Amino acid sequence: MDKIKLLLLFLLPVFLAAQEPQSSKSAGKAGQALLQKPFSVIIDPGHGGRDGGAVGNKGTLEKNVVFELATMLAKALVDDPDRAFRAVLTRAEDKFVALEDRITFANQAEGDIFMSIHANASESKNDNGFEVYYNSLVTDDALTNIAKRENTGISEKKDPQPTDSMFILWELAQNEFQKESMDFADIIQAEVETAVSAKAENGKKILMRNRGVKQAGFAVLRGVRMPAILVETSYLSNEADENNFKNPEFKDKMVRGFLEAIKKLAAKMDKRRDENK
Ligand SMILES: [Zn+2]
Repeated sequence: MDKIKLLLLFLLPVFLAAQEPQSSKSAGKAGQALLQKPFSVIIDPGHGGRDGGAVGNKGTLEKNVVFELATMLAKALVDDPDRAFRAVLTRAEDKFVALEDRITFANQAEGDIFMSIHANASESKNDNGFEVYYNSLVTDDALTNIAKRENTGISEKKDPQPTDSMFILWELAQNEFQKESMDFADIIQAEVETAVSAKAENGKKILMRNRGVKQAGFAVLRGVRMPAILVETSYLSNEADENNFKNPEFKDKMVRGFLEAIKKLAAKMDKRRDENK
């Protein structure tokens, strides 16, 4: 018993210091910094259960690859030595979760940011690459098709379809965070490109096309009351993209890009909040 207490006494200051390393620089802010809430990241692995999402030619299922990336990211966040993060998954296993429930869950969990992870598919086998979306009502036909596919989860509940007024309320919820969602999308596409295109130790480079940042009307982004993005990690309908998921280094690098982006965004949001105090 005493041994445990002693261990805790030793461990506690290390843990607190690890949460906010800059606190020692400013004695006045130390107490405040030590009480700083961990930065909460809601990670939403798309699809699940009977909703498999996109399917690759070799049978790769979107619901599985995005779940793997989501759990890797959650671990990387919680293990990060520079800042205290809290990572919450909207589904913890391979089960169907309606989009409305993901939104409600994210809001109740009081996330600081929301990130939905998906993989794309197209009728053209040449379509490939990584793209990041933040919410908008402004869509063109191609984007509407992607949004339609990703919005399917919403119609699989017994409840009626969300009404127009519900969509308007969701739209208002997300409008407040438009600027930060845009920042989040910009930072993540840059960091993922940097991380994935970095040469491996064997000198080989992983090929991944960066399709940039776009806007679309994804239902899952509309209702969350926090900066929110949706990442289409690749096109499973493209052979090279699907093969990337068989390469552990690709997944590690992509998650590294996610982590670096979230760290930068968290620092930016902390700064903005401090300025508004
Ligand atoms: Zn999807």
